Amino acid sequence: MAEDKRKSEFIAGSVGTVKIFGVPVRLHFTFVLLLVFLLFIGIGGKQSGATTALYILALFASVLLHEVGHTLVAKHYGIRTIEIVMFPIGGVSRPEHAPKAREELWIALAGPLVNFLIAAGLLAWMWMRSGWIALEQLREPTDANLVERIALGNLLLFVFNLLPAYPMDGGRILRSFLALRRSEEEATRIAAGAGQSLAILLGLLGLLGGNFMLMFVALFVYLGASQEGAAARGRILTSGFPVEAAMITDFRTLQHGQSIREAGELLLATSQHDFPVMHGDSVIGLLTRSALVKAMITQGPESYVASAMDRDFTRIAPATPLSEALPQISGPGACALVLDDGDQLRGMLTSENVSEFLLLRQAETTQAKIHAG
Ligand SMILES: [Zn+2]
Repeated sequence: MAEDKRKSEFIAGSVGTVKIFGVPVRLHFTFVLLLVFLLFIGIGGKQSGATTALYILALFASVLLHEVGHTLVAKHYGIRTIEIVMFPIGGVSRPEHAPKAREELWIALAGPLVNFLIAAGLLAWMWMRSGWIALEQLREPTDANLVERIALGNLLLFVFNLLPAYPMDGGRILRSFLALRRSEEEATRIAAGAGQSLAILLGLLGLLGGNFMLMFVALFVYLGASQEGAAARGRILTSGFPVEAAMITDFRTLQHGQSIREAGELLLATSQHDFPVMHGDSVIGLLTRSALVKAMITQGPESYVASAMDRDFTRIAPATPLSEALPQISGPGACALVLDDGDQLRGMLTSENVSEFLLLRQAETTQAKIHAG
């Protein structure tokens, strides 16, 4: 049951899974596209197909080890990692809960440090074997300079990830430093703003130079910065509030014996999209708008709501901290039912009403600032 709920939290669009240190690693489909693209441009020229494959594999392993670095330090602080997703500009480790500012600093540093150590190790090894080679020779990929190029790739990963902007690790480091002197909200806003500015700069450079890869990276930096900023703002604005402070308490329910036609009438008459389905006083399921429409098409208007409802809906206790419940209702149209210890229906939590709660909280904090200043 708990496992099922966790599945729905996974980032959409990922394919394939491997487990490293017990943490599932998923490849986002855009990452697979990038691998294919790299293979495509890598083959030909002066290096063999095998070397190209080895080079890409080594870079993939480097990015993965980077994430393992984050994971192990997080584990040291007792924070479990739900999953690692590989995106084109690097991996993303999803922690079970947000670390404290000091912990975040060390967790964020661990990843780039791994790349630095790999680069330093490889360069030291090459130097002991044959001395330095000229940097110009690295311009053209050949079979002979494979190890140097892997080292260079890791140095690039080290520098890129330390850029002080969300969603890079450097953004997290910046945020944890800013949080020492400013409010957490302000620190997050600055780090996310830096990420978006950097993305626009990279995008412009890519556009002017006709560099497709740079534009691609810029797009991902922009999306990542916006997402990180929104998620962090959500956590801050909801901290200290239980689920019951934000839940919908005024709503309509359906009885399991009612027809899909009646459910459709209720859908039109109210502003609700999802309806708890009751058997007497107890909840037995949740009828979502899409399930309702699907049942209308496949089973007809006279079928029962009980045959169309979802029996494995998301349940949340009223006292659960709202910030912990956020991942479960983050998707568009997501809905959870709030049930107390006695399994009695107390309310509903939807992504829509949580965003309204966030709007109100935002307004309250702004108002408090105006009156304080
Ligand atoms: Zn990282």
